[in-house]
Amino acid sequence: MEKLELEKWYEEWKDVKEIVLFGNGKTTRYHIPEIKKNFEIQAILDNDKQRTAGKTKDIPVLWFGDYIEELHNTKIVVVSAYEEVSEQLLSYGLIENVDFCDIRLFITGWQWFQNRQLHISELHIAVTTCCTLNCHNCNMFMPSHRKNKTFRHIGLERIKHDIDQMFQDIDRVYRIALVGGETMMYPYLGQVLQYLKENYADRYGSAEIYTNGMVLPEEELLEIMKETSAIVTISNYNLTKNHYQEKVRDFIAALEKKEIMYSEKLGGEWFDFAFPHEPLDLTREEAIENMYRCNPGFRGFNDGKFYFCHIVWSAVECGILPDCQDDYVDLHAAHTKEDIVNHQLGVMGGKYVSLCKYCIGCSKVYRKMVPGAIQEDEG
Ligand code: SF4
Repeated sequence: MEKLELEKWYEEWKDVKEIVLFGNGKTTRYHIPEIKKNFEIQAILDNDKQRTAGKTKDIPVLWFGDYIEELHNTKIVVVSAYEEVSEQLLSYGLIENVDFCDIRLFITGWQWFQNRQLHISELHIAVTTCCTLNCHNCNMFMPSHRKNKTFRHIGLERIKHDIDQMFQDIDRVYRIALVGGETMMYPYLGQVLQYLKENYADRYGSAEIYTNGMVLPEEELLEIMKETSAIVTISNYNLTKNHYQEKVRDFIAALEKKEIMYSEKLGGEWFDFAFPHEPLDLTREEAIENMYRCNPGFRGFNDGKFYFCHIVWSAVECGILPDCQDDYVDLHAAHTKEDIVNHQLGVMGGKYVSLCKYCIGCSKVYRKMVPGAIQEDEG
């Protein structure tokens, strides 16, 4: 998106008081309390009839097919699968950024123009690049970290400094996700959760931890997770080797015993990002389009840098992508809050993230599905 388009978007949305959300998934649930502070959410739409029974957080959930007649009377904020849903809404004659827009644009754009505040939907912080697995299609490139021996735990002081720096510019993050590698291998996970809670509890909605469930947290960490209201997402890859299922079951039992909130995401198919094993080689124009279509739901923050696409940080770390200054806003260097707003919304110097030339990401144009968690030989 260009800067001018951003201003045009705000003209269309500045007086909006009521909206409809599209997508009734987990992402919608953590956005609702934040959105409700400023807007009335009239309904949540979904294409899947099975997800439309009843209400989510007291908001009626409706099947898209039953809402078609109302489409032109409302403003729709698309929470998930933007590429697919936007094509669907365009086919009904709706206009992008006038009748509907993406959740990240809605959150960041509205808060910026209205209050000069910087709000981010979802921000990922990598705490480690060590992992118990070595998945061929890992989107944080664990096999490359292993091959190039670049895997490491990020120092606790480094992470704390990043968190401080991040909150100097960012007013609110709706969801912070601590990611890896395998987060349960990270020796300071509890300290990071405590640091967030003790210093910035009023600046974020939820703190979440992603794990493959293979490393059982110790009692002390479980206590901290409980105290800090951390939410755990277990990616269960359904592997048969190394007593994987047993470990995941023990992990879940430990969370349940402590009443720690969690969700279990069952493996299955993954998107093959193609990079670095069979990289695309797109032209500049194709890469711009690819980034726009992929539109990752999360941003990243590591080493004092704010990334539009967090996997770029990991690709540079393991030496498979050259550093490109247009891929992030470096908060150590001179910058303004508006630079971050623009970057968050894809308004950036080079117009696209350098890796989008080589990576399929989530766009359906080049989409290739592969079985999840295929293990590479340890090199
Ligand atoms: S296509 Fe671009 S934005 Fe999407 S995951 Fe790949 S590098 Fe990130």
